[in-house]
Amino acid sequence: MEPSLFPLRELPPGLEDLALLATDLRWTWSHGGDALWETLDPQAWKLTENPYVVLQNISRERLQALAEDSEFQLRLRRLISARNAYCEQPGWVGETYPESPVRGIAYFSMEFGLGEALPLYAGGLGVLAGDYLKAASDLGLPLVGVGLLYQEGYFRQTVDTDGWQRETYHYNDPTSIPVRPVSGRDGAWMHVDIRLPCRDVRFRIWQAQVGRVSLYLLDSNDPLNQPGDRGITSKLYGGGQEQRLVQEIALGICGWRLIDALGLEVDTCHLNEGHAAFATIERTRRYMEKTGLDFWEALWATRIGNVFTTHTPVAAGFDRYDTDLLLRYSREYAESLGVEPAALGALGRKDPDDHDEPFNMAYLAMRTCGRSNGVSRLHGEVSRRIFADLYPRWPRAQVPVTHITNGIHVPSWDSPWADAEWTQMAGKERWRSDIAGLDTSVLENVSDAALWVVNGRERADLVDYARTRLARQLAQHDSGEDFSVVSAQILDPNVLTLGFARRFAAYKRPDLLLHDIERFTRLLTNPERPVQIIVAGKAHPADEAGKRAIQRWLQFVQRPAVRAHAVFLEDYDIALAQQLVQGVDVWINTPRRPWEACGTSGMKVLVNGGLNVSSLDGWWAEAYSPEVGWALGDGSEHDGPDDRRRADAADAERLYELLEQEVVPLFYERDSGGVPRRWIQRMRTSMSSLTPQYSTNRMVREYMENLYMPAAAGLAARTRERGKLARELRRWSRQLERHWHEVHIGDVYTRQTPDGWIFQVPVYLGGVAPDAVDVQLFADAPAPAQQPFCVSMQNRANIEGALNSYLYTLAVETRRPAVDFTSRVVAYHAAAQVPAESALIVWHSGEVNIQSIQTETSEDATVGSEPC
Ligand SMILES: *Cc1c(COP(=O)(O)O)cnc(C)c1O
Repeated sequence: MEPSLFPLRELPPGLEDLALLATDLRWTWSHGGDALWETLDPQAWKLTENPYVVLQNISRERLQALAEDSEFQLRLRRLISARNAYCEQPGWVGETYPESPVRGIAYFSMEFGLGEALPLYAGGLGVLAGDYLKAASDLGLPLVGVGLLYQEGYFRQTVDTDGWQRETYHYNDPTSIPVRPVSGRDGAWMHVDIRLPCRDVRFRIWQAQVGRVSLYLLDSNDPLNQPGDRGITSKLYGGGQEQRLVQEIALGICGWRLIDALGLEVDTCHLNEGHAAFATIERTRRYMEKTGLDFWEALWATRIGNVFTTHTPVAAGFDRYDTDLLLRYSREYAESLGVEPAALGALGRKDPDDHDEPFNMAYLAMRTCGRSNGVSRLHGEVSRRIFADLYPRWPRAQVPVTHITNGIHVPSWDSPWADAEWTQMAGKERWRSDIAGLDTSVLENVSDAALWVVNGRERADLVDYARTRLARQLAQHDSGEDFSVVSAQILDPNVLTLGFARRFAAYKRPDLLLHDIERFTRLLTNPERPVQIIVAGKAHPADEAGKRAIQRWLQFVQRPAVRAHAVFLEDYDIALAQQLVQGVDVWINTPRRPWEACGTSGMKVLVNGGLNVSSLDGWWAEAYSPEVGWALGDGSEHDGPDDRRRADAADAERLYELLEQEVVPLFYERDSGGVPRRWIQRMRTSMSSLTPQYSTNRMVREYMENLYMPAAAGLAARTRERGKLARELRRWSRQLERHWHEVHIGDVYTRQTPDGWIFQVPVYLGGVAPDAVDVQLFADAPAPAQQPFCVSMQNRANIEGALNSYLYTLAVETRRPAVDFTSRVVAYHAAAQVPAESALIVWHSGEVNIQSIQTETSEDATVGSEPC
């Protein structure tokens, strides 16, 4: 361990390595050390399951005794060598891509949800980022995380006797969370500085360890800062517009400076959501400093190394800043870049010339990243729609946003029972090895009865946990009842258990299940086939409607008739989520399509044998099939309050119907041995076909192969020889922009061949060189799910008597009518991403002239095959 300004505490000789284990958040998913920590202090372990806290609170005498205990020493050494082995194995990257061009990835995120020991998250975005770091460690990606250390994380929830949510904020006391200050070469605490209007602010650097991955965190609560600035990182998503802007400046600009300060080699910069988009500008500035290139050349050099993942399904969800506010904060900075502040502002606007348009962080990210993606197939489509305005006249399908569907870090969410069963079936390396190599048919070797036993244990654990937690809740309200008696009568380990837990945001329709309270009550309390539900979730502090939905649930669970069948557990967090997803039979999710960009909570039940009932939105829209679960809604979308109300009513109706007629009967259909054969069949299919697919294991590999590797290779090419290629690209794009208005397409002719059509397209290029453009034949996709037809026209001849003008010819084999096809000219450079980096496009505007002569051969034209 590197010398630290912040010693955990002094440990007796022989036990120093305990500090190494306690500060490595690998313990949030790898449970080999649990028994050891429990030995240290059973009480503190039981309360926190946090080795860091255990170690801090143990007495010197106890430590001394353990230091002299040879058996304890042996256990400790075994754990250390297991950790070393984990850290030293090459991982998937080392094995598959020993020559990978990716030297370093910086993963920027406003939130990180690694576990309750380090609560720097509000919801799904943060949990995803946490799971991402864990998987990057497992797979051996050369990745570091960059984020902010908030003095207060997201609020903690209690609910008062009226069912109204109360918020409290914990202080993230840095002495009790597993982070340590990073010291510089001179021994002082490392910090990065930034000039904000009329003052300098410094951010201290902290480090958390996540297996092999480091997470670096910035915080402004430094006594050397002015009082107001010490509060910049006080709260996650707290404060107004200005604080939010300054936080994003800190994350992006200071985050990139941190990488420089630490001397990390990073070629790939990944923005997890647009919050950190300023990092791309700072990266550009640094490259200018190193090479002497101007801003635009440096942007051409570095942009290709940036990746943007958007998580927002509606344009209103983007962070936007008023022009005046942005200007105040960017004026000096723009000067250091050698550009006008207005030019910087234009990068965040749809219409660069409209100075009243607010500055949009997602637009900035789109414009300064070479590659962008949404987080599910459906969200990819939705994102192409919301970003379409940035690529005027481009077909929707070619708006440059791909998708990589999210996944979850399986070892963080599986139950001890499921873990044991999977280990036996598929070995210890299963969540780290290639998913194609993970033969889930091994699941077929496990008997129905064995799976059912696993399920029963998981459910019993959850019931125990929920009762304990409920007793604590009741005690806190001092309701006068004997809470331990009350809670013992609640829930039943043999009853079909539904889980519903999420942020209580309107689009998730958190009270859809309460649409018809009497009907839902009948469903729960059916004496033959009873059902129980565990509900949890927080509403944003300013969201009255969300709080009312919580109140409705609280009033519902207090009805005497359903009391034993329904509980609301306060303070939904990662720890509670883990218990829930391990023990429920059915996970319910009811978002309003297409508002759930992906959703991950439903993925967490897969490994444990839980089944999903969900709207056809986010990941479920691509994962659902009747063999693995149940779908709500028909995949249509509804706008306007009346339309929505009708759709909500219909969805509620369908949800009750599904539960009453399909889910509940299937669960209670038992064979003579009491085993629900058909239920288990579904469980088996869901477990084996979906678990590997919706894991971070699959997801992180896709990021590596589809985005990071090309990004790093592109960066290497563009930055060689002091950015030679980047400078060329800049010249190319300037030339195009200057002369693009001169480009046009003349009268297009076509004639039929036995196999299709030959098109002749005259193109007048004005001042644009012919090799700087691509002339393409285009047709819309024949069906919604298919790709458009798009072929590059390679064959060209000079048009006599006209300067820089060419007749492009192409034969296509097709049965589609000629009028389906049109031609266009777009920017082209072998090294450029089009349209991400240049969206210039000219379409043929007239009708195609169809000539009546049939042509026997297509010898005079190349047959189009190269897709563009
Ligand atoms: C997984 C998880 C989420 C994300 O859940 P969704 O239902 O996909 O939004 C949010 N909060 C916590 C605590 C989680 O564990």
